[in-house]
Amino acid sequence: MSKPRILVVEDEDALVVLLRYNLEAAGYQVTNTDRGDEADLLLRESLPDLVLLDWMLPGLSGLELCRRLRQRPETQRLPIILLTARGAEDERVRGLATGADDYIIKPFSVPELLARVSALLRRASPEKVASLLQAGDLALDKTSHRVKRGPDDLHLGPTEYKILEFLMERPGRVFSRAQLLDFVWGDDSEIDERTVDVHVGRLRKVINEGKKRDPIRTIRGSGYAFDETFTG
Ligand code: CA
Repeated sequence: MSKPRILVVEDEDALVVLLRYNLEAAGYQVTNTDRGDEADLLLRESLPDLVLLDWMLPGLSGLELCRRLRQRPETQRLPIILLTARGAEDERVRGLATGADDYIIKPFSVPELLARVSALLRRASPEKVASLLQAGDLALDKTSHRVKRGPDDLHLGPTEYKILEFLMERPGRVFSRAQLLDFVWGDDSEIDERTVDVHVGRLRKVINEGKKRDPIRTIRGSGYAFDETFTG
């Protein structure tokens, strides 16, 4: 399965760098342009899965581009999130009235932006995101079995991969060692519960190397959970 493609239309260089880094780390394919009129041309050539569109742009404003895109049948339903520094309520309403699906006010938090992008993609093209699990800077592709943290590919053993996929799909829920044994190894397995600890230990070693935050929580006396508040 191909990665969801995102077109970033933004003329602030630092913001483009930030967006590109975080979106790519989250498993998206990113292209960008700093002009509204150029975005218009690019979108006539090929359609991404989602557009992050700045409001104030040289060439053509994000608002005007959004209005034009909604008039063309091929871009009528293209998922668009407007980025805007303006916060006045009437401006927000004006943004949505031009047909944007969502808007984000600058300065925004990266986890919030990623959550909005993922939510809109899930609504617009569920088949594209079904295989991609992500939390903070950790991304797991269920189709290719690839796991990344930030820009780095991680190499997990098959058991560690299964544990991570299982926990990531159920953030915040605590599973006992016995439950993990059932789900990951099958309930007829003769494996000792302490084996679970060994594999979780290996998993942590790979995903947390050189990182500050551990997305896996140990709940004393109970088991393990994927930290639902993990943001990288
Ligand atoms: Ca701008």
